Amino acid sequence: MEKDTVVNIIEKDRCTGCSACHDICSVNAIEMCEDEVGFLRPHIITDKCVNCGKCVDICPVINRIKENSTKPKIYAARANDNVRRNSSSGGVFSLLAEIIFEKGGCVFGAYFDEDMTLKHGIAYDEHTLEKMRGSKYVQSNMCDIYKAVRNKIKENEWVLFVGTPCQVAALNLFLKNIDTSRLITVDILCHGVPSQKMLKRYIKEKSSGKNTIDIQFRDKEFGWRADYIKIVFDDGTSYVENVHSDEYVKGFLKNVILRKCCHNCSFSDFPRQGDISIGDFWGIDTVDMGENDGKGTSIIVSNSEKGKELVEILKKKCLSFKEEDVEPLLLPNRFKALYKENPNRDRFMREFAKSESYCASVNKVLSVNDSKEKEQKIKYDVGLVSNFYAGNFGGSLTQLALYNFLRENGNTVLMIEHPEESPSKPITKTLEKIYLKNPYPKKDICKTYGTKWQMSELNDVCNTFVVGSDQLFQAELFRLLGEFTSLDWVDDNKKKIAYAASFGHKKLYIDRDVLKNMKYGISRFDSFSVREEDAIDICKQNFGIDVAWVMDPVFLCDKKVYEDLASNVKREHSEPYIASYILDPTREKRDIIKFVEEKRGLKAEVYSELGYSDEYIAPLEGLNVVQLKIEERLKSIMECDFFVTDSFHGTCFALIMGKPFISIVNTARGASRFYSIGHKLNVMDRIVESFDDVKQRYGQLKEMDYTKVTNRIRDEVDFSKKWLLEQLNRKTLDKITDRDYLRRILSLQSKKIDELEMKLQNVCNVARTDNILNYVTDIYSYLNVLNNIKERVGIVISVKDTSGLLYNNSIDTYMKKIGNTYNLVGKHWRSYVMLSVNGVLLYEKMNDDGESIEYKQNIGLHCVEVFSSIFKHENTARIMIDGVDYAVNRRGLNIVVFDTQNFKVIDSVVFDTHATGIPCYHLSDDKKVK
Ligand SMILES: Cc1cc2nc3c(=O)[nH]c(=O)nc-3n(C[C@H](O)[C@H](O)[C@H](O)COP(=O)(O)OP(=O)(O)OC[C@H]3O[C@@H](n4cnc5c(N)ncnc54)[C@H](O)[C@@H]3O)c2cc1C
Ligand code: SF4
Ligand code: SF4
Ligand code: SF4
Repeated sequence: MEKDTVVNIIEKDRCTGCSACHDICSVNAIEMCEDEVGFLRPHIITDKCVNCGKCVDICPVINRIKENSTKPKIYAARANDNVRRNSSSGGVFSLLAEIIFEKGGCVFGAYFDEDMTLKHGIAYDEHTLEKMRGSKYVQSNMCDIYKAVRNKIKENEWVLFVGTPCQVAALNLFLKNIDTSRLITVDILCHGVPSQKMLKRYIKEKSSGKNTIDIQFRDKEFGWRADYIKIVFDDGTSYVENVHSDEYVKGFLKNVILRKCCHNCSFSDFPRQGDISIGDFWGIDTVDMGENDGKGTSIIVSNSEKGKELVEILKKKCLSFKEEDVEPLLLPNRFKALYKENPNRDRFMREFAKSESYCASVNKVLSVNDSKEKEQKIKYDVGLVSNFYAGNFGGSLTQLALYNFLRENGNTVLMIEHPEESPSKPITKTLEKIYLKNPYPKKDICKTYGTKWQMSELNDVCNTFVVGSDQLFQAELFRLLGEFTSLDWVDDNKKKIAYAASFGHKKLYIDRDVLKNMKYGISRFDSFSVREEDAIDICKQNFGIDVAWVMDPVFLCDKKVYEDLASNVKREHSEPYIASYILDPTREKRDIIKFVEEKRGLKAEVYSELGYSDEYIAPLEGLNVVQLKIEERLKSIMECDFFVTDSFHGTCFALIMGKPFISIVNTARGASRFYSIGHKLNVMDRIVESFDDVKQRYGQLKEMDYTKVTNRIRDEVDFSKKWLLEQLNRKTLDKITDRDYLRRILSLQSKKIDELEMKLQNVCNVARTDNILNYVTDIYSYLNVLNNIKERVGIVISVKDTSGLLYNNSIDTYMKKIGNTYNLVGKHWRSYVMLSVNGVLLYEKMNDDGESIEYKQNIGLHCVEVFSSIFKHENTARIMIDGVDYAVNRRGLNIVVFDTQNFKVIDSVVFDTHATGIPCYHLSDDKKVK
């Protein structure tokens, strides 16, 4: 039978990780284990558990001692400059410690050990206290600390405990039955906590292999404003960054990396947990400007009698100490439970759980917002339009080669990727995954746009647009990338060049409508060149244009560029080897590699496409298959004895590196480019179609004379370079065409529409006070208004009887917008409840077996209860706010909307999603009906 432990009772997202349950368990049946993003959570060792229930009684999320004042006094305090220099705020913590030391007592606070793990520990003197000073923006490990505090109290010592409010709440429960007259508890105003795993990864990424000895999250060395983070290394160097740019503090302040429970933390509310609360006096200027000398002012809240006595002693120790007449809830500081999480928080957690890099994960989720905030200020000669992020060896190097070539020839280049509205979402910021080191400077990477038409603002940023090579005109990829390579978003008076475009196959297999768009786009290009010979005909027949036949961009770069990239690789080969890059593994290709291994008496190292699954590469079984990043692949080809590939770009790099090779024609990805390059460089003998080909021709394939090939490559490359440079130097149209003029007008109109939409949203937001909801009777409009105001209100939903046969996919789409995650379409007779507060989904459940659902949630001093029961059971919907039932209680979706400032009900409605027309009954209407 499942035991009644805290883990069975508490919801995962509500656990604070305080570890009190770990300390209370007398049989050591609770371990604190890291979850996938590093937050500590209790884990029950069932064999040891004796089912005593103590862990349930100690959990501060389930129980609470609420004796402190609900309207405490607030003070502004400043210690002297020496103390404040080493403290994060006004230095009150150090003064409190001084008081305890004077009594011969000890202080419990948080400090970093040599491993940079944050733990709570004990200090008896100034020296040990030193390490506890300063805010550490990470959750401290509290295992065994509650027991240690209890021991000290039992030994009759004076104890000062400082921690987050949830830690203090847990300590209060832990010491419930013993005399705590010599204990002083202090809770810090707490924004929330990231996990130690996040901090450690971040430190590792900033330390470049050095040992870290200290970290200051708010360093005052660079000024009293303390807006720098500083990591100190053992070789005397340090990393220093402004808190608004640093990835860790940014993630912390923007509510991306905090523990889930921190976004609804009732410990932050009144009554507070500690005898006193201390924090940074944010907003002191608006309350009492005279108390801000720019060096740190603490806010002190005296919550208990003991707290009041302490305040009297503190007064005498401070440089300045003043009672402030202020309503704490009006301060920007944290005195309330609800704290909105960043909309990208969950995305960050998913990224971080699967990625190796903290900084990349945080940048990935913040960059979309950040880049939207900043205007593109720098101007560029060329906007290079491509899928340069794609996790594809050849595709990535194609764009990098073009970028390098353009820059070598004196151009500034902005890398532009496809918009978010495209069928295939942009894979922003994955460069770290495919390269050992991101080869592009940050400033040369354009922000990601929402729509193709928003990209037209780049007309004011770039002089010329070049569409990078590879299959960007292959019909399916063209469609998946939102058709952005057609450059229809670029003005007439901007130069448009396609370099080495590829259609993938020797014929254009394309949907008629997509072809129309491609035709229109291509007709506007100033210059168009293709990579494959047969693409010359494609262009003539479909688009009526004559085009140039040029080399793939990877040939435009000097070999040295690739050697430099490969020089970052530490991986070495001790013996000669065969390298093999197989994009699409098959048994036949494996046999070819095995054959070459046997013939040359060497082992092959084989790699497939970046990030392919084990299942995909299974046909290569029995070979030495390795995972390599782009630079490592280049080195592998560069240093191998022989190369086998089924990749077009693999073939290109064998030619660039001057290696003997076999190129297996890959019909699945388009055979034409293999034959094209084979003919162009006169290396058709290297291009094989089958294992039989290899067996018959191996004698000729063994070695390779590169003298002729190199000359041919040089001639072709010279022509290609010349062609591109000539196009870049051609004059642009020096006038505004009607199309450009209209495009600009449309852009202005579309901005105006955006502004109007914003205004409309604001009008909808007023709904909370104007009760617009009372007048809305259509379910779609109602849910739409809820979506617009959801971040300011509480929404409670309960199904009575059935969610109904008219609950359709459109309603589901609107419901999803307000936070619902279950799909109720076709879910006849399922009880269902949902509670969302200020846009945060606090609870949701649907019972497949039709059983009723009952849920209760305390939010600060208020309480929300919801009950849902279907026709076959109690057939009731109940939605109680502070003990009063507001549900209309009719069949369908019963919805109650309340103001989260004062918990007053704004509207109560039911939509009968089982009756024709989905009739709506507001609470008042319903009363009339009764
Ligand atoms: C995670 C975190 C979130 C914070 N959020 C806010 C906020 O929202 N608003 C605000 O005004 N101030 C916030 N602070 C700052 C905090 O209020 C100040 O640390 C406090 O005012 C003490 O300042 P001081 O100058 O008196 O002492 P300091 O010398 O800075 O002493 C810091 C004290 O806090 C304890 N401490 C430090 N880090 C932690 C930790 N991670 N867990 C538990 N205890 C810790 C130390 O043991 C020490 O006792 C936060 C601090 C932390 C650690
Ligand atoms: S029920 Fe008792 S024995 Fe079991 S884990 Fe909880 S505290 Fe330990
Ligand atoms: S006691 Fe603390 S760690 Fe244990 S379940 Fe409760 S909140 Fe989580
Ligand atoms: S915000 Fe609340 S739950 Fe999170 S660490 Fe702070 S006190 Fe604990």
